[in-house]
Amino acid sequence: MLPESLGGLAAIAGLLGLCVGSFLNVVIHRLPKMMEQEWQTQCSELRGEIPSTAEEPLSLAKPRSRCPSCGHQITALENIPLVSYLLILRGRCSACGTHISLRYPIIEVFTALLSAYAAWHFGATPQAAGALLLIWALIALSAIDLDTQLLPDSITLPLLWLGLGFNLWATYTDLSSAVIGAMLGYLALWSVFWLFKLATGKEGMGYGDFKLLAALGAWLGWQMLPAIILLSSVVGAIVGITLIVATRQGRNVPIPFGPYLAAAGGIALFWGTQITHKYLSLFG
Ligand SMILES: [Zn+2]
Repeated sequence: MLPESLGGLAAIAGLLGLCVGSFLNVVIHRLPKMMEQEWQTQCSELRGEIPSTAEEPLSLAKPRSRCPSCGHQITALENIPLVSYLLILRGRCSACGTHISLRYPIIEVFTALLSAYAAWHFGATPQAAGALLLIWALIALSAIDLDTQLLPDSITLPLLWLGLGFNLWATYTDLSSAVIGAMLGYLALWSVFWLFKLATGKEGMGYGDFKLLAALGAWLGWQMLPAIILLSSVVGAIVGITLIVATRQGRNVPIPFGPYLAAAGGIALFWGTQITHKYLSLFG
């Protein structure tokens, strides 16, 4: 592919990423609330209570986004990714002037940059289309895990099936490597979880982490799992130790593992083959 057309493709993917990033903000904000609402409904059903119908069920599409501070409904003009934040709202709610978190534009820009890079890296291929979906899911999962220490099944499980689906045509790896990757990915962290629990009596990670690594195995094949585990543990240990030293919090503060797994998965998506070749050559 010519460099110019590759640049055009990356620009289109970047713009698409900006819009998707805006949608991811909604997913990150609402999905945990939707899950909580569902659990409460199930709990009250179990207790034999009639679920209250006063609260309107939350979904990704409804109700329209509002200012969390004053309830002002976000207008279409205020909802343009990045542009609204920078030019129209200047970081504040147009009704009450409350500061709007910088996280929204950061997620939009980050999604745009990674989407553009994926298009640049893979060109106009099925790999690029899959990479976009994988990256978007990983961004949403990381942010939700940071906020709530949850990795929703409603993202991790479809992601796993989607990875297997792409590899029906050996998009990233052959199908048997993908199936074994999903199985070993789950099993690897499940074993660590139980060893850690038997040794210390504590739970070091959640079931969502197993499912996320299973999904990454399904996308990239079992051959990538050692690199993903190694990368996420090293980065996780560095960030974890830094946080403990910097904030002087105890080691019992839960540190979500999902974002590190997601970051390692992203690195493996783009450079996994080079990385595995490197370390295989280390062992002869
Ligand atoms: Zn407001």
